Amino acid sequence: MKRAILAAALTAGLLPAACGQDPSSGPQPQQPPPQTVTVGIKFDQPGLSMRGADGKPAGFDVDTAVYIAGKLGVQPEHIIWREARSELREDLLNSGAVDFVVASYSITAARQQLVSFAGPYLIAGQDLLVRQSERAIDRPEDLNGRVVCTAEGSTSADKIRRSFARGVKLAMRDTYAQCVADLIEGTVDAVTTDDVILAGYAQEHPGVLRVVGHPFTRERYGVGVRKGDIDLQGRITAAIRMMIDDGSWRRAMATHLTAAGFEPFQPPIVFNAPDKAVNPGDPTTLDPDLVHATRAVAATSNARDWEGFRSLVCPENADAIDEIVLRHTPHYDKHLGPEVKSAGFTNTITGVTQTDPDSATFVFHEAFSNVPEKYRHYFKDIDYTGTMVRRDGAWKLCSLAADFVEP
Ligand code: GLU
Repeated sequence: MKRAILAAALTAGLLPAACGQDPSSGPQPQQPPPQTVTVGIKFDQPGLSMRGADGKPAGFDVDTAVYIAGKLGVQPEHIIWREARSELREDLLNSGAVDFVVASYSITAARQQLVSFAGPYLIAGQDLLVRQSERAIDRPEDLNGRVVCTAEGSTSADKIRRSFARGVKLAMRDTYAQCVADLIEGTVDAVTTDDVILAGYAQEHPGVLRVVGHPFTRERYGVGVRKGDIDLQGRITAAIRMMIDDGSWRRAMATHLTAAGFEPFQPPIVFNAPDKAVNPGDPTTLDPDLVHATRAVAATSNARDWEGFRSLVCPENADAIDEIVLRHTPHYDKHLGPEVKSAGFTNTITGVTQTDPDSATFVFHEAFSNVPEKYRHYFKDIDYTGTMVRRDGAWKLCSLAADFVEP
């Protein structure tokens, strides 16, 4: 991106007034070329980013990218859009072919080895898209013996390979739109990726396709930047926060996604998705009160002291956090049999990162014991990622996400 030019443009704009010169006399200063930015985006995901007849993409990811570009000083007409298929995103970033990627791009530990992320700006979950008339497929466990289509280079493919691969025949395509064509054609039985993407296809084919509606992962979408570009990562993080705070996020959600039948989560708590968690309890980098509060979150959970736990949670997000905790606590899962009620669990803090004086992220590892074999796949170890925010001097848990850890 041409930051030097932006600085020059600002200087040029200010100088004549400061010097009291008549701008119409003398040689006109040369107009600096407009600042541009190249953004990697999907071209075939309705609701998120779909290229229209005019060649321009539209959708929630596009609005997010346009908003960010605006905060970086780039007008929408000066954004260069480049298709970023799932498999190509890291290469596009690291080769410098794009400045940033907004393309249903989940923040994962593996990807953080290769690129850096700002965000998250949206939370989705992996789900299944089937033909309207399908009766046999409702959950990923039903995929045994079926042909399931997904995109190369996606977390969706990884998840199916790791957790359900045994009986599943995977059909890999470059994009989900190709999978959807195959599903309609009848050559595959289901398409799997994030619910927010699938909702767009279901909306495009009413009465033909439907989303089963049982998400089985948490996908935190981040804006990808070249690995280690902390400056741009920070500026994009600030832009995403502003987008949420000034109402633009909700407007984009209502325009592009709620209309597709997608029930939105609350806007996520945004942090500079840390590339690496640092040592828990390191007094040189962490506020001791933060360490104390993070330990208390783990301790109250381990002691099943839910009242104590709840007192450490941001009130406006308490219900959402409860929902996640309940979903992953054997004792509270209504769908499971009584034999699971004697299962145990323990949270251990594996990392705390303070991103600024008033915000931090942590990772807890949760290990289960005494889980009956038939429920084992429900209760694999979990890495919880939480965000802590300091308000009026007290650290509170303001968002929580759970990721199964594959053995
Ligand atoms: N969010 C998932 C991922 O980043 C699936 C969607 C996609 O492939 O864009 O891989």
